[in-house]
Amino acid sequence: MTAAIQDFQGKFPKQLWPLFFSEMWERFCFYGMRGMLVIFMVDVLLLDTEKANLQYGATQAFVYAFTFIGGLFADKILGFRKSLFWGGLLMITGSVILAIDPKSFFFLGISFTIIGTGFFKPNITTIVGMLYKEGDTRRDAGFSAFYAGINLGALLGGYLCISVGNGSLFSEYVPTHLRWNVAFSFAAVVMIISLLTFINTQKKLGTIGMSPLLHLTVSKRRLVEVSVFLGSLVTIPILMTLVSVPEYTDIFMEVIGPAALLYLFYEMRNFSLVENKKLIAALIFILFSIVFWGFFEQSGGSLSLYAAENLHNTFFGLTLDPNGVNNSANSLFVILFATLVGLFWVWLSTRKLEPSTTSKFGFGFLFLAGGFLIFFLGKNFASESGLTSLELFTLGWLVITFGELCLSPIGMSAVTKLAPEKIQGVMMGMWFLASAYGQYMAGILGAGIAKSAKNMSNFEKLQVYTAEYKLLALYALLAGILLLLLSPYIKRLTGSVK
Ligand code: GLN
Repeated sequence: MTAAIQDFQGKFPKQLWPLFFSEMWERFCFYGMRGMLVIFMVDVLLLDTEKANLQYGATQAFVYAFTFIGGLFADKILGFRKSLFWGGLLMITGSVILAIDPKSFFFLGISFTIIGTGFFKPNITTIVGMLYKEGDTRRDAGFSAFYAGINLGALLGGYLCISVGNGSLFSEYVPTHLRWNVAFSFAAVVMIISLLTFINTQKKLGTIGMSPLLHLTVSKRRLVEVSVFLGSLVTIPILMTLVSVPEYTDIFMEVIGPAALLYLFYEMRNFSLVENKKLIAALIFILFSIVFWGFFEQSGGSLSLYAAENLHNTFFGLTLDPNGVNNSANSLFVILFATLVGLFWVWLSTRKLEPSTTSKFGFGFLFLAGGFLIFFLGKNFASESGLTSLELFTLGWLVITFGELCLSPIGMSAVTKLAPEKIQGVMMGMWFLASAYGQYMAGILGAGIAKSAKNMSNFEKLQVYTAEYKLLALYALLAGILLLLLSPYIKRLTGSVK
């Protein structure tokens, strides 16, 4: 059955599309909430902005860190389908709690969502990888299309939830005191759609994502599964404490990464040398991705402060909110170009010209460098009040988006190719764990930039920010060159996998 699915004709397997929509709605829920967090914490929970930023960073880091745990339980106990189902249920519960009373139950709702995303996000990605057989050159294109779905959800959710929450949209229909409830209820509704879409898709997945414990008796299997469900519920109050005190994030981040690495090394003892070489290659990609996300995720931190204070609000004569542009330009560009870039890889591969994963990563960093260089060049167009071109800033995001498309869908795809089936969930979890460290690093970098521009005039602030972006461009350039140089060596590790 799986073989029949993997022997599909055409460019994409047909199961990709329902998974695309399921993930699109899940990302709507996720990015919708993400876009509301800081503003909600400042406006309703009355946190000061610094605390809200730290809190935001902690939440993001936890979300991605839990993907490692979600991947692990999927591999060992639940299988990918049940993990996704459970994750979806937890996410629905979290957003319903927030829709009912976001003020009183904020951390409870958020904790449900964090654990739910951990079970959902890595495992739907792994299922996409399983639609392809080893060596299928159409895999990266499939991930690029899937990535467009992610960003469609991110764009819609990211725009809609916050604008209903802050009252800039539909305020005539939504009573002021219920705005946030309605905004969070959007997340709940779309997550229900996501889960229903997935339930419907399951019939078409053959044996993909089934329980790894089919050899056990039904009652034994139930027992371990229910223990995981109960265990994750018991974790919620603990997580509530961890998330609500950002200092605990440091401790958590110091532990989870090394623990994940140790676990991986422990698992490696069961695999052949060839398999382990591939795992090392995957690990190299994962480590580089931390740096990429650390720079990229300035978007939520220092770049949003930069957008708020140092950019004009006109875009070729059109008035636009610079923060809106900072939040959504990237998603829009991904939607416009992801499939094209994916098809470009297929086109190159039919001509035997497709670059290796390492080279694609290298190009990803070069584009990242180009984008930050453009942000730096913004300083040449600054007015005396320290405002510079929104058009140039948008161009910077366009260039960075091409970098993201060379790295993020390709990395997800590579992890599904390089990891032996038994630890696909864990490896996908590690891929997203790298995002957790990226977010964490982004927060530290951003705080450093903000600190060095403290008490300065807006013009001076622009000089400091752009100088820092030049440095980031330089580091990204070096990382890109390093990857291109390493490419032939990493190829030896990946063996048959391109
Ligand atoms: N934007 C992508 C997503 O939401 C990648 C996020 C990440 O890995 N940091 O899936």
